Parts: sequence; C-alpha cells; structure tokens
Amino acid sequence: AKKNGRGRIERFLPAMKEQLIRERLLTEQLKQGLENGDLVPYYQVQVDARTRAVVAMEALVRWQHPEHGLLLPEAFLDIVADGDLAAQLDETVLLRVLADRLVWQSAGIAVPRISINISAGRLAEPSLLQQLAKLHIEPDAISFELLETIFLDELDDTALSNIQKLKHMGIDVEFDDFGSGHASIVGLVKLKPKRLKIDRRLVFPIVASAEQTSLVSSIVDIARTLNIEVIAEGVETLEHAEILADLGCQILQGYAIAFPLSAVDLGAYLRQHGKQAALAVLHDT
Ligand code: C2E
Ligand code: MG
Ligand code: MG
Ligand code: MG
Repeated sequence: AKKNGRGRIERFLPAMKEQLIRERLLTEQLKQGLENGDLVPYYQVQVDARTRAVVAMEALVRWQHPEHGLLLPEAFLDIVADGDLAAQLDETVLLRVLADRLVWQSAGIAVPRISINISAGRLAEPSLLQQLAKLHIEPDAISFELLETIFLDELDDTALSNIQKLKHMGIDVEFDDFGSGHASIVGLVKLKPKRLKIDRRLVFPIVASAEQTSLVSSIVDIARTLNIEVIAEGVETLEHAEILADLGCQILQGYAIAFPLSAVDLGAYLRQHGKQAALAVLHDT
C-alpha cells in the first residue's frame, strides 16, 4: 500500500506541475489576446414572451484563439478568476460591445438593449462609474448581469455603492443565474435589481415535472411582488417557451429562440427579422 501511495504522488506531482504550466501559458496568451482584440462578444437575443419581439441581447465573450480556435468562457474564465484580469476582460468586452453597437447603428439597424456580464472584481472597482461616465453611454443602451452567487457575502461597500450608482445613472442591474446561488430573496429585497434571470437548471426541468413548474411559478410570483421583471434562460424548446409565457415570465432567452451569434451574424439577424420590433421564430432544437 505504501509503495502504491508513493506511486500515486509521483504521478500526481508532475500532473500538477503540468497543469500549472498550462495555466500560466494560457494566462499569458490571454493577456496577449486582450491586447490583440481576440476576445470578442457574441450576442444572444432575448424576446418578449408574448409578442416575441426582440427586447434585448446578452453579450457572451468568446476567445478567437490563434491555435485552438473559438473558445467558450468555460475554457478560460477560471484562469482569470476574479482579479484584475477578469476586470480587464469585462472592460474589453464592454468597449467592443459599444463599438459593435455603433457599427450596427450606422448600418441603420435599431439595436436593442445589450446586457453585459460583470465580474465581482470589476463591480468592486472604485473607478467603474467614472469609466462609464467617460464613455457617454446612453443609459438604456446597456444593462449589467451580476452573478447571484457573488451576492451579499462577497460584495464590499464599493461594489454595493457602485450598484446604487449604476441604477442612478439609469443602467439596469440584473441578477444572473437566479436560484442557483445563495441569499437570493434577501439579495432581491436589498438590491432591488430591475430583472432576475432564472437559472437554466430550474427552467429546463419544467416540461417534465409539475413540481419544477410550480417552483418557477413561485419565483415569478416573488419577482412580481417586488416589481422585478423575469427572464428565463436556457429556453430550449417551444414547449418551454409556452409554459414560461403562461407562468407570467416576461422575457425568454435560449437555443429555441437563437444561439449566440457573432456581431456580423447578429446584424444580419436583426435586419432579417425587421427593423423595429424584430420577431423571433421559435424552433425546436
Ligand atoms: P450566463 O451569463 O448564465 O450565460 C448563459 C450561458 O448559457 C451562455 O453560455 C449561453 O451560451 C448558454 N445558453 C444560452 N441558451 C442556452 C440554452 O438554451 N441551453 C443551454 N444549455 N445553454 C444556453 P456561455 O456563453 O458559455 O457563457 C458561460 C458563462 O460565462 C456565462 O453564463 C457568464 O457567467 C460567463 N460570461 C460570459 N461572458 C462573460 C463576460 O464578458 N464577462 C464575464 N465576467 N463573464 C462572462
Ligand atoms: Mg449572463
Ligand atoms: Mg445566466
Ligand atoms: Mg451561467
């Protein structure tokens, strides 16, 4: 057994070292990628549950890696953790979103609100509001999605006051992945976000389970009590879309409506679906 244990350690140490080297390399490449403009937002539309007009879209970062191709956040968000690099990534995404928006607008496309994910690190930056003010963003042009899991326990005073200032500026704050973290209802009451996004792990099971449907229905009721709008994420089928609309969920996002699209494809999508109130065609995936 002893020999066995040592064997395991001998295998484990090199593997750990390899992992560290890989992470360090990836971190260096990411810094380079940020400078080179290789980190770009894709966009996934959100529609009104009743009219199916496009009301917003979420910016989702992708890394056009020189060797590995298009990488999803799961491949690199862990290595940025929640420090300076995460804040830098979020800033890069925001600037790119604003640039894309200008391109669409100058092509005559009516651009809906763009919802941007923000890390705890970025939210806690004392200079966040000054930075935003310098960019002269029209208040209803963007909103910020905060992960529910970063709430309350982890929010310092700067982050809390930044949330209040954002709301003051007219930039909507949304709770992301609602129902998968902690302190959810306390957080809602305390921070009064404009919207909450029900986590797709709660949305997906509603088709098969009455219990899960009631659960989502209860969240919609709580949100209504607090005058908070509800977005369902992970809407994968027509049946999901119909049930969610019936439950009183106002906004839908998911593969049944559209996949995340590149800026060019999104521009084509908005143009194709009409200039003012783009109508989404729901499809089963
Ligand atoms: P999220 O904010 O909850 O974004 C929704 C995720 O669900 C996206 O994954 C999206 O592609 C995926 N999705 C959309 N519709 C469906 C569906 O119908 N079914 C399923 N199974 N999935 C669906 P993605 O793009 O891989 O992003 C993962 C996470 O990475 C995001 O989760 C968000 O937390 C984070 N993230 C993305 N972009 C940024 C960013 O610019 N900054 C920061 N800080 N985080 C980001
Ligand atoms: Mg999000
Ligand atoms: Mg989410
Ligand atoms: Mg998520």
